Amino acid sequence: MIKYLDLQKINARHEEELHRAANRVISGGWYLQGSETAAFEEEYARYLSVRHCITCANGLDALTLILRAYIELGEMHAGDEILVPANTYIASILAISENGLTPVLVEPRIDTFQIDPERMEEKITSRTRGVMLVHLYGRCAYNDQICALLRRYDHLQLIEDNAQAHGCTWQHRRTGGLGDVAAHSFYPGKNLGALGDAGAVTTNRVELAEVVRALGNYGSNRKYVFDFIGRNSRIDEIQAALLRVKLNYLDADNRRRQAIASKYIAHICNPKLTVPTVDYLSNNVFHIFPLLCRHRDYLQTYLLERGIQTLIHYPIPPHRQRCYAHWNELSLPITEQIHCQELSLPLHPALTDDEVDYIIAALNDYE
Ligand SMILES: *Cc1c(COP(=O)(O)O)cnc(C)c1O
Repeated sequence: MIKYLDLQKINARHEEELHRAANRVISGGWYLQGSETAAFEEEYARYLSVRHCITCANGLDALTLILRAYIELGEMHAGDEILVPANTYIASILAISENGLTPVLVEPRIDTFQIDPERMEEKITSRTRGVMLVHLYGRCAYNDQICALLRRYDHLQLIEDNAQAHGCTWQHRRTGGLGDVAAHSFYPGKNLGALGDAGAVTTNRVELAEVVRALGNYGSNRKYVFDFIGRNSRIDEIQAALLRVKLNYLDADNRRRQAIASKYIAHICNPKLTVPTVDYLSNNVFHIFPLLCRHRDYLQTYLLERGIQTLIHYPIPPHRQRCYAHWNELSLPITEQIHCQELSLPLHPALTDDEVDYIIAALNDYE
């Protein structure tokens, strides 16, 4: 069986180093807010070429703390609107709702799966305060058109959801360093994955960084002094130590992901399947390799019978979820098409060439 994601294999490649890192923390006796966390924050900030990195408990917290910080700074208020792609993972939207802000769903493009720049401007109102740009499936959502739009509406904040795109670049700059602020998730299955939950916020704005750090520390930046009604959101020293090991391999892992993806694109040729074109290879670290297929569920069963596990990203779009009942009647045809037809192929750095060839052959035999 070829697993969709083989975390055991992925982490076994660095088993000794990971054990050494975890043991260093266990023997050291300091488990939270210590030197490993500080070192990871510094190393990840340097990797992205940003000034500030604040670690937190997970990616959803990173997004939530960012928006909360804007509210505390008086730059956003309840009811203000944030544009967000309609086909994103629901966490991007939950963070907006949780802060009393209004998510405004924007349709994606069917060829890139990213927010459609052509449809963004018509959604901007006097209440719009920001754009949450999600680099979905590992592909950079930023482009010249969005850059020009944000220059025209220069009061809008650009918030990146970089949970799926660690190491991705746009014109030699890394995603997570393109906008005003970015959220990162280190969920184990992400391109840069911890061995548990972890997340981070990155920004070049010092005042935003300070408020985010305080909000994740009970609302405090000085011991026993509380400026905000905060929460507890932090990573532990073991996860920070493990992430420091894995950060060293991120670029090599992403190159391997890109090599597998280009093989898929070059060799899958079956008129029943819509495979991304070669353009899709640029600015992409392939967290997910998406295919479109009219009889998607049938294809998924076919592949499983041949020992190939696949996933769907995502089976039910946010506007069709019960938690967003007021959106249930909305018509978002592109988003709905993606949710009906998308199938994600196995793609991770420990996948072998033989496995990739086997998957390609099975897809080309599909009738
Ligand atoms: C994974 C993910 C998140 C949430 O990250 P967690 O660490 O699981 O909370 C947010 N946005 C996107 C696009 C994601 O893929």
